[in-house]
Amino acid sequence: MSDRMQPIPFSALINWITREVKSGTLFGCRNFYTAEPEKKISILGREIETPIGPAAGPHTQLAQNLLTAYVCGGRYFELKTVQQLDGEDLTVSKPCILAEDEGYNCEWSTELTVEQAFEEYVKAWYLMQVLARELKLGAPGAVVFNMSVGYNMEGIQSPKIDRFIEQLKDASACPVFLQCREVLEQHLQDFSLFTREDLDAVSPHICSSMTLSTMHGCPADEIERIVTYLLTEKGLNTYLKCNPTLLGYERVRSMLDALGYDYVAFDESQFQADLQLEEAIAMLQRLQDTAREAGVLFGVKMTNTFPVKAQNRELPDPMMYMSGKALLPLSLGAAEIISRSFDGKLPISYSGGADALNIEAIFETGIRPITICTDLLKPGGYHRLNTMAKKLSGHTYWGEEKGTDTKKIEALVKEILSGTRTRKMTPFSIQRQLPEIPCECKEQCHTVCGCCVTVCPNRANVLIHTVSGNKMLHLDGLCNECGNCASFCIEKSAPYLEKFTLFQSEADMEASQNGGFTRKEGEKSCYLLRCGAGRMEYRAGENSSGVPEAVREIIDAVDEEYEYLFYLKKN
Ligand code: SF4
Ligand code: SF4
Repeated sequence: MSDRMQPIPFSALINWITREVKSGTLFGCRNFYTAEPEKKISILGREIETPIGPAAGPHTQLAQNLLTAYVCGGRYFELKTVQQLDGEDLTVSKPCILAEDEGYNCEWSTELTVEQAFEEYVKAWYLMQVLARELKLGAPGAVVFNMSVGYNMEGIQSPKIDRFIEQLKDASACPVFLQCREVLEQHLQDFSLFTREDLDAVSPHICSSMTLSTMHGCPADEIERIVTYLLTEKGLNTYLKCNPTLLGYERVRSMLDALGYDYVAFDESQFQADLQLEEAIAMLQRLQDTAREAGVLFGVKMTNTFPVKAQNRELPDPMMYMSGKALLPLSLGAAEIISRSFDGKLPISYSGGADALNIEAIFETGIRPITICTDLLKPGGYHRLNTMAKKLSGHTYWGEEKGTDTKKIEALVKEILSGTRTRKMTPFSIQRQLPEIPCECKEQCHTVCGCCVTVCPNRANVLIHTVSGNKMLHLDGLCNECGNCASFCIEKSAPYLEKFTLFQSEADMEASQNGGFTRKEGEKSCYLLRCGAGRMEYRAGENSSGVPEAVREIIDAVDEEYEYLFYLKKN
């Protein structure tokens, strides 16, 4: 078992998609969002169909994550941040996500190499346009891919990151862009509506905008130099991600205390290290002028996550980054200050505790686009985007050029602080007595609730239909051990460590303790499996007495219907 994900090769993604959509789902999601043809909003110079999407994070790392967000209603994609340090050189402690109530994480930039990340974004770019046509979800290309890079000038100007930026601006000569086109050309007969004309119309200009992420404590002059460079030399519409520390220690402490987050621990010193409000406002004014002269858009993103201490070892690192509902008053509070300082004339994009019950109020303040992360990690997962997109479709759309309404933001902050919705939830626990395990295979769920399927950002848990009903199957290759599914399992299991698992190879199976199976190389329909203490060979469809019936049903179903789950093809 590895905490490294294995990207799905492009042709295998096509195979997976074309097979799964026949059953009305895509990566386990069935609530597809169909855009209203006349409903468009101008975001960062592009006309898109909804002003929402996944924030740079676990939902924008792999191609299938971006595609799942698209079919559920996302149209603005803040791609996961890349930095000079990447791949194997970047260590992320695991588990890295805790989203039971407010959210915490200790992951920050992509776990892929920068090159792999670029490939994932190109694959998603193409396939989103295929899905737009094939599933009649909207106009192909009516989306924004917003790149995100970090974290200092030296890294951003390094050849690796510079190449990443330039290739996303124009991918026309990139091998992966050309290969994807070639593969799609070979698969045109597999599509009913996506045509050669649609393929020819896929633009190589994937990104024209950036959200800049700098480290907490990054000096103000360096932030200004980087943004100036992105605006003037790279010609990118740019959002600068700001920190909630702009609010000052006292205000942050009192907001969190008022809402029941008095246990959240952080030092006053981190506020002094971050950008101070007065210097921030002066800098933002200068950058706004620079952008105007350069003919590009400049705005801020409210906000970055908030670093706090992991006092109770919630996650393995001593510091973790707070997000979700506890961040909501801080991000909106910081947005209020900026909106007031600029008389609503500085575009503000948003991430911080947005969900289906507050997204309309946030949107009505003029803040847009709105990105979501923690809420999508909760039961329902990507489907939550669908609810948000539908709610917003009842509103009049206007782009970021109209600015923000300070009074509305102020009223919203007051409402949040005086209401009960954003308060810390009282912990509850399920005291249910589970029945005795009915079969020899201890990795099976008693009740297949599907929660671990919806909450997984990487689509690494799937429900499959077997002769005796739905079964949950964990996909080892797509899991990066973020730990999120363990927070929500009704059987108090850690599904990614304890449930029956499909491995891409024998080596992957050997490296894991999970019960599960893989294909025997070179032999059709023959599988190697580990179940309980035993290791066995099983040929699909045989009534092999040593193999539990529940396990046979899963393997038979995979052999017949779900062979695409073996995306690293060997046989
Ligand atoms: S299966 Fe669980 S641990 Fe693995 S990526 Fe999905 S949510 Fe994270
Ligand atoms: S592993 Fe847990 S969350 Fe997943 S389907 Fe089974 S009971 Fe539900």
